[in-house]
Amino acid sequence: MTAPAYRRILLKLSGEALMGAGDHGIDPEVLERLAGDVRDLMATGVQVALVIGGGNIFRGAGLAARGMNRVTGDQIGMLATVMNALAMQDTLERLGVPTSVLSALPIGQVCVDYSRRRAVQELEQGRAVIFAAGTGNPFFTTDSAASLRAIEIGAELLIKATKVDGVYSADPLTDPNAIFYPRLSYDQALREGLGVMDATAIVLCRDHAMPVRVMNINEPDALPRLLRGADVGSLVVS
Ligand code: UDP
Repeated sequence: MTAPAYRRILLKLSGEALMGAGDHGIDPEVLERLAGDVRDLMATGVQVALVIGGGNIFRGAGLAARGMNRVTGDQIGMLATVMNALAMQDTLERLGVPTSVLSALPIGQVCVDYSRRRAVQELEQGRAVIFAAGTGNPFFTTDSAASLRAIEIGAELLIKATKVDGVYSADPLTDPNAIFYPRLSYDQALREGLGVMDATAIVLCRDHAMPVRVMNINEPDALPRLLRGADVGSLVVS
């Protein structure tokens, strides 16, 4: 077996990636497929950390627009990411992958409190690590949490899994003239408002030289090919 191209990666999945064909919640079959991908990656020797969003359950900004206090809404959103993390942990462990959930909000009876030291130890011991509750702060997103954690744990690559093949000049699902960018800079993504991640997340990656690969999570074999060093999706670098 060829050695993996990376030693440690962080995979960011949106909450929507867990929904499958539904319009909310978790599709167990999709969860099992994604967990199987993680298991296969780890079997090649890559250390895998995950950040999972919560948009399939709750987004703070949504109810804030209808009068809910934004901070309360974001706290509910962060708890939604804990639910997704627990569901992924359960699925991974049923597939034989020991997994830790580390939460930015302390909920000691449910999962472990986040610390960078603990995260790195767990990864080095061969566990999958899921970072839950985003950054632990309102007004942030799980994309920003993914950037932050990837930098903290010294990941070599942040993989942002999406429903499209990478970064385009416009939404390829609605605009047939959208141009695909195989490689782009952080500043281009910021300047042109390209759908990579939110600006806070991109700036963090730019300032700490964290490469970001945007790829289609539904494309079979894309993740293993990427981890073998193939040029999959779009690469965002300096
Ligand atoms: N959230 C937050 N702080 C964070 C991360 C997330 O307040 O650091 C809340 C916010 O309300 C957000 C929700 O959690 O809308 C779910 O996260 P996100 O929208 O990033 O999930 P995704 O779109 O990736 O499914």
